[in-house]
Amino acid sequence: MSDCIFCKIINKETPADIVYEDNNCLAIKDIQPKAPLHLLIIPKKHILSVDHLDSEDKELIGELFLVAQKIAREQGVAETGYRLLFNVGKDAGQTVDHLHLHIMGGEKLFFA
Ligand code: 5GP
Ligand code: ZN
Repeated sequence: MSDCIFCKIINKETPADIVYEDNNCLAIKDIQPKAPLHLLIIPKKHILSVDHLDSEDKELIGELFLVAQKIAREQGVAETGYRLLFNVGKDAGQTVDHLHLHIMGGEKLFFA
């Protein structure tokens, strides 16, 4: 998707602080972090949101969680805890229409 900011980051047309990359996804630092650790795990496939997943994305979604686990361990928050979050659509506050898994940690997280 040529006008998608995350596709541009995936294609290296727009810079980002990339902390992890493999064949199917990458993880970047959120540009406006809401916790000491705030990363976004983004599949390379342009999927609009969780609401747009279909059965062929089953394995990919599983991979995102395993990448989250790996990154949490590498970033030193696995023991203290972390939050994984998908915003889905307008009312949830989804602002980028390319599916992404937030990973947040590094302090006590008080919001729901
Ligand atoms: P959402 O609100 O859609 O769940 O999350 C989108 C997240 O992407 C926000 O936390 C926002 O700060 C982050 N974001 C938006 N544009 C960019 C960008 O160009 N680069 C990076 N690294 N993060 C971005
Ligand atoms: Zn995209």
